[in-house]
Amino acid sequence: MNNQLNTSTKNEHTIAASEERFRALVTATSEVVYSMSPDWSVMRQLDGRGFLPDATAPIGDWLLKYIHPEDQKKVKAAIDEAISEKKIFQLEHRVLQADGSLGWTLSRALPILNNEGEIIEWFGTASDITEKKRTEAALNEAKEQSEQQKRLYETITSSTPDLIYVFDMNYRFTYANKALLNMWGKTWDNAIGRNLLENGYEPWHAEMHEREIDQIKATKQPIRGEVSFPHATLGTRFYDYIFTPVFNERGEVEAIAGTTRDITERKEWEQKLESSSKELQSINEEMASSNEELASTNEELAATNEELTATNEELLRMQHELKYQTAEKQVAIDRLNANEQNIRNMVRQAPVGMCIVEGDPLYVVEVNDIFLELIGKTREELKQRSYWEVNAEVEEYYKPITDSVLATGLTYHAKEHEITLLRNGLSEVVLVDFVYEPMIDFRGKPYAIMIVAIDTTDKVLARRKVEQAEESLRMAVDAAGLGTYYINAADRIFHASPRLKEFFGFKPDDEVPYEAAINQIHPDFRQQAADLVEASFTRGERFDMEYPVIGYHDGSIRWVRGIGTMQHYDGKDFFTGVLHDITESKQDEMRKNDFIAMVSHELKTPLTSLNAIIQVANAKTKNSEDQFLASAMKKANVQVKRMSTMINGFLNISRLESGKIMIEKSHFNIEELVREIIDELEVTVTSHCVNLIECAPTVIHADRDKINSVISNLISNAVKYSPKDTTIRVSCTDNENEIIVSVSDEGIGIEPTDAAKIFDRYYRVESNDTRHISGFGIGLYLSAEIIERHGGKIWLESEPLKGSTFYFSLPL
Ligand code: ADP
Repeated sequence: MNNQLNTSTKNEHTIAASEERFRALVTATSEVVYSMSPDWSVMRQLDGRGFLPDATAPIGDWLLKYIHPEDQKKVKAAIDEAISEKKIFQLEHRVLQADGSLGWTLSRALPILNNEGEIIEWFGTASDITEKKRTEAALNEAKEQSEQQKRLYETITSSTPDLIYVFDMNYRFTYANKALLNMWGKTWDNAIGRNLLENGYEPWHAEMHEREIDQIKATKQPIRGEVSFPHATLGTRFYDYIFTPVFNERGEVEAIAGTTRDITERKEWEQKLESSSKELQSINEEMASSNEELASTNEELAATNEELTATNEELLRMQHELKYQTAEKQVAIDRLNANEQNIRNMVRQAPVGMCIVEGDPLYVVEVNDIFLELIGKTREELKQRSYWEVNAEVEEYYKPITDSVLATGLTYHAKEHEITLLRNGLSEVVLVDFVYEPMIDFRGKPYAIMIVAIDTTDKVLARRKVEQAEESLRMAVDAAGLGTYYINAADRIFHASPRLKEFFGFKPDDEVPYEAAINQIHPDFRQQAADLVEASFTRGERFDMEYPVIGYHDGSIRWVRGIGTMQHYDGKDFFTGVLHDITESKQDEMRKNDFIAMVSHELKTPLTSLNAIIQVANAKTKNSEDQFLASAMKKANVQVKRMSTMINGFLNISRLESGKIMIEKSHFNIEELVREIIDELEVTVTSHCVNLIECAPTVIHADRDKINSVISNLISNAVKYSPKDTTIRVSCTDNENEIIVSVSDEGIGIEPTDAAKIFDRYYRVESNDTRHISGFGIGLYLSAEIIERHGGKIWLESEPLKGSTFYFSLPL
């Protein structure tokens, strides 16, 4: 009980508070404000704001008083839903206004809940939307009307094949009928509101209509015109169109209505009429003249004559009518004529021979001087007689061509046609390219041919010259017995000439892939050759190598020298070159080497005993009184030493070449070796001062005897090629990776051109300074070979007349 009491007092408090809020709301808003009991049975208060009648005391029949009878049910349903879900009530409905008339309102009410969540009151506002509703209704009605109108138009315009459309003043389509939409292949939605260009009109066409729309706007007069353009499937069509202004209430043009009719058929008709008109005219003329004759000779025929005159008049009238009809056509013809005039001008001024022929038989319509010169005819001849009458000598060959161009409409090309013509009184053969180009009329039919003749003599001759040059080069290569090849860089396909195949022991028509050719190279040379080819491909290096090949079919050995370079031709890279047979000269060389080796070997034995004898004699005469004998023996010793060095050199060369030279490595101290050599030399060399500048006592792993001969050779060269009493400096330095030995002199020096070849076999510098100095050019060759086989390098620095320094390095 107590509890119930408590709740109701609380509710009362809440209501009192909400009444406060109600009042505050009423003053704050301009809208109708109302409050309702929890179940909406009683309207507690309503401030109508002049829109609805006020309710100052609670009323129970508010529904009848305020709500339009037809909407009462709807309002009740919305209330029931809001109450059951305790959510906002919101509804647009009709009301009875304060002045008794019918109005519209948007009513919204909010449930006020107590702490237990029960509704204790509803607060609502209602705004006057009567005006808005009226406008909406009017708008809908207008819309409906316009839809109806459109449907009506649609029904009318869709039944005609004519194109019907309306533009606004911004050249946009605001209406297009079915036929037009179909022609465009568009729907209403993607065509309406777009302009001419956007609807696929050609720019010239769109511009033309836009100008006309401007004109109509300015003059307020309709425009009628004719236009032709190609239709997607029907070919070129002619159209007749009328643009009419549409005025607004103020008499201004607010739109342009247009209709367009396809008049292609009519046009064709007109053409037919025109030709019959001509026929009629000539008949008419004939009749007129016979009429006159008859009149003068036979009075009796006057009646007939009169009749004829009447007919004549009738004909004249028809003719007049037809003339009138053809006047329109004349404009189009004029335009065509202007076009033709342009083509004629072009033909006359073209820098190549040009001629237009037309008709049956063909007659020349236009021709330029270049063409006349090429066919050797005059303009006069071509005017008087048909083309084939004038060019009878070539009719048999060319007439089928012109016939076919006219029949098929396909262009014909004739290349490098030989023509003999007279130029400055001399007959001359020129090569001409002909093009027969059909000229097509508006129906797509060929009606004439434009013949273009281009003198290509210079071009063709230049090409033939290149071909001839290539041919003679090929013949020269063949005559020299050279094999040729090229390898395409992209696919590595190997192309070999028959001669090259022969070198490798293949038959001329054997397929020879690159690998097969490489396989025929002697195994000792194969890897090196393959590596060098690869170097050409990757680094563009020149290939130049002598190597023996073993014949594929015959197994016989041939020596060849192959030279090749990378070439860039026609956008592609090729490795290409020649091969020549050097078997003969190789054999000569080998025979020579064998001979030298044999002789050297034979000389070695007597020389060894000679050396021993001289050593003994030398020792014996050392302290002898006989000064001459002592010095003679000493000199003999020096000469025998030189001779054995020389012979050893020859022997070494032949050993080297037959691969018999062996590097026998041991560990030794380079400083000790250098000192030993210098000490030994001091005995024989008195002319020069040999100084050891510096030498690191480094232990190296090498062939001691051979390194000895390299250093000895460098020092004895320094002695040989520098003036008496100069100094020779020897030094060796080392770093982490290698040891470098150098021998420096103050001698005649070496020119750069010689320096490049100085390590070649048998190479000697030919000059006045060196001529009297004996030697064979094998010392440096052997030295270089020895150093190379140790994995080292040998080089020199030299200044002519100042001196040279030779260096070699050995890896540590
Ligand atoms: P050779 O001395 O027996 O002719 P080498 O192979 O030792 O043969 O030398 C080749 C050539 O190099 C010599 O003929 C000479 O012209 C030149 N040459 C070698 N050493 C020197 C040097 N120190 N100064 C100038 N020219 C030299």
